[in-house]
Amino acid sequence: MVADKRRILVTGGYGFIGGNFIRFLRDNFPEDYIVNIDKNGYASNKDYIKGLCNEEHTIDLKDSLFLENIFLKQDKFDYIFHFAAESHVDNSISGPSVFVESNVLGTQNLLECYRKINNGYGKFVHISTDEVYGHLRWNDPSFTEETPLSPRSPYAASKASSDLMCLSYIETFNLDISITRCCNNFGPNQHSEKFIPTIINALKDDKKIPVYGEGSNVREWIHVHDHNLAVWTVATTGKPGVYNIGSGNELTNLELVDILCKIFDKDMDHCVKFVEDRLGHDFRYSIDSTKIRSELIWEPLYNNIEEELREYVEYYLQKGR
Ligand code: NAD
Repeated sequence: MVADKRRILVTGGYGFIGGNFIRFLRDNFPEDYIVNIDKNGYASNKDYIKGLCNEEHTIDLKDSLFLENIFLKQDKFDYIFHFAAESHVDNSISGPSVFVESNVLGTQNLLECYRKINNGYGKFVHISTDEVYGHLRWNDPSFTEETPLSPRSPYAASKASSDLMCLSYIETFNLDISITRCCNNFGPNQHSEKFIPTIINALKDDKKIPVYGEGSNVREWIHVHDHNLAVWTVATTGKPGVYNIGSGNELTNLELVDILCKIFDKDMDHCVKFVEDRLGHDFRYSIDSTKIRSELIWEPLYNNIEEELREYVEYYLQKGR
C-alpha cells in the first residue's frame, strides 16, 4: 500500500477490533495521524496499541462537550472509523441502559461532530453487526443488505438504532457514511468474556466449557484481520450505504467447541457442560456478502478456520489476550 499522510479518527481503539484496526493502520500507513477516542472500559486493553497513536483521549462518547472539544482542537479528519460500542449481548440483557447511552447516544454525538465541526468533510464508517437483522432458521437464506432490521437483544437493538441514525444522516444531510455489518470475529486481543476465549480458558484450566442450550446455535466466524481489511476497503472505495461482511464459515457452537477440543487433544464429550440457554438466544446468523465482494475488491484471506484457530490458540497461550 502507498503511504499517504491522512488524519484518521478511530473510536473504540482500546477494544478488540478497533485495536487490531489501529495496528493495521500503523503497519500500512506509518505517516498517518491517528487519533483514538475510547472510554477505557472493562473490555479495553490500552497496551495492545501502546505508542501507535498520535493522540489518545479517554472520554465517553455520551459526553458531547468533551467530544466536541476534541473535534474543535483539530484540523478536519479525513476518515472517522466508529468501532466504540458496548458489545456483549449477555451484558445487554442484565443491564441495557449503558448500551443505549454508548451505542445510540454515543453514535449520535459523533455524527453531530462529523456533521457540524468536521463540516461533513471526509468519510465516516460505522462498524455494525449482522445481529441487527435478527436470526434465521436452518434453511433460511442468508441476510442481505436489504433484509429488514429485526433485532432481538438490547445489544442488537442499540446497534440497529445507531445504524438508522447513520442512514438518516446520509439521506437528510447527504453525508458520506458507510455502515458495515459483520459476522462474529475471532483473533488476538479479544476480551475473555467472549465465546472463543472462554472455551480456550476452560480447556487450558481443565474446566468444563459452558455451552448454551444444546449447542446447536449457528454463527458465522471471520478473522478480525479480514474484517478490518473489509472496513478499510469500504472506507476507501465504498459508497454511502450498507455493506455486509461475511466469511461463509458457519459453525454450530458445538462444532466450534469440537475444533478447539481437538487442538487441545481433548475429547469434547468430557469437556462440555450445557447451561441454561440465553434469553431470546438468536438461533442462526448467516451473511450474504456478495455486494462487497462484487462491487469492491475484497474477499477473506484467512479461509482455513481450523488453522487460524490453531494459530490463535498458540498466540493466546503465550500472550493471554
Ligand atoms: P469491545 O467491547 O472489545 O471494544 C469496544 C471498545 O469501545 C472498548 O474499548 C470500550 O471501552 C469502547 N467503548 C464502549 N462504549 C464507549 C463509549 N460510550 N465511549 C467511548 N468508548 C466506548 O468490542 P469489539 O468486539 O471490538 O467490537 C467493536 C465494534 O464492532 C462494535 O461496534 C461491535 O458492535 C462491532 N462488531 C463486533 C463483532 C465481534 O464479533 N466482536 C462483530 C460484528 C461487529
